[in-house]
Amino acid sequence: MALIVQKYGGTSVGNTGRIKNVAARVARYRSKGDQIVVVVSAMSGVTDNLITLAREIMPLPSEREMDVLLATGEQTTIALTAMALHALGVKAVSLTGSQAGILTDGVHTKAKIQNITPKEIHRHLDDGNVVIVAGFQGETPDGQITTLGRGGSDLTAIALASALKADLCQIYTDVDGVYTADPRIVPGARKLDEISYDEMLELASLGAKVMQSRSVEFAKKFGVVFEVRSSLNDNPGTIVKEETRNMEDVVIRGVSLDKNQAKVTLVAVPDKPGVAARIFKTLGDAAINVDMIVQNVSHGAGAPATDVSFTVEKADLLKAQKVIEGLKKEVRFGEVIATDKIGKLSIVGVGMKSHSGVAGKMFETLAKEGVNIEMISTSEIKISVVIDLAKAEQAMNAVHETFLG
Ligand code: ASP
Ligand code: MG
Repeated sequence: MALIVQKYGGTSVGNTGRIKNVAARVARYRSKGDQIVVVVSAMSGVTDNLITLAREIMPLPSEREMDVLLATGEQTTIALTAMALHALGVKAVSLTGSQAGILTDGVHTKAKIQNITPKEIHRHLDDGNVVIVAGFQGETPDGQITTLGRGGSDLTAIALASALKADLCQIYTDVDGVYTADPRIVPGARKLDEISYDEMLELASLGAKVMQSRSVEFAKKFGVVFEVRSSLNDNPGTIVKEETRNMEDVVIRGVSLDKNQAKVTLVAVPDKPGVAARIFKTLGDAAINVDMIVQNVSHGAGAPATDVSFTVEKADLLKAQKVIEGLKKEVRFGEVIATDKIGKLSIVGVGMKSHSGVAGKMFETLAKEGVNIEMISTSEIKISVVIDLAKAEQAMNAVHETFLG
């Protein structure tokens, strides 16, 4: 007898018909004699609607009350899912995060799980029940309701799988798994059979959102192997696990495109100690997240100067320009050029560590497409370039073809 944790996201429980489908799937697994713990999200759109309601009352509601409010989304789904199982003649019981023994710190709206005491879960499982746990919520040691940050049901599922030492953890969603690229942009994209935690984290942070990053980090830390798969069919999904030797045989696991970045260039910045510190400290103090930075070699004799470019999120561009203009008098650079017509194209793969020539191959592909590279950054398992937005999708397809075609 195995213990299986299954998590169903908002679209998978988006209406009562879908909830009945989920119940049917759970019932099928249950009929094989395995113990099943189901974690559900709020029905799709519900959490957003609750946030809208709160903001209609006041712009900045108390975070404690936000948690009391948002936790109702998942509480609705657990009860409906339990009923759908009862309707199929399957014994089932729903538990809120607090009833399930999920203890968190007291940071409302983004609480961290501190400890899970799955006593109640085990009791109900031993009684022959399917146990349905509300995702995204927990309680503090003194009984306050908390939530785990948007997308937090993933974390509930991974953390429960770890605490229960589950044999299998399945994350059901509306896509078939993790793809080599976004199939809406790259028609030839393929579903991956497996991917390492680090690759998954890089792809997620690069805009390929399948799961909440925090939950993948948690899974990595505690070695929870899980599968991302569709609730709409029976196809096997993508296994996410620690990197293995043969994973390195594949040079590139995936390609991603982030269209959400903007670039700022400061021309003729004095090339002397302390200047970069001043610029980026000021941006940091304004809570602007800087991603890539490129500084050219100095030019000009006497008082050497250099050009400095960096990228920020599009939403922060105006703020960044304002902060930079404010520094002009003090730091004495020349022109400030800003554009949001860029794309950040990245290739990710643990195989990069043991294969050479990967960057050259990527750049050659871009050259053939007539795509100019404006910035480059690399890590052990990733190469990113900033390019013209107008050519970004064409470039993505070409790079995908080179490495994964
Ligand atoms: N309902 C929460 C949200 O929409 C948690 C989740 O779906 O995982 O963020
Ligand atoms: Mg969700």
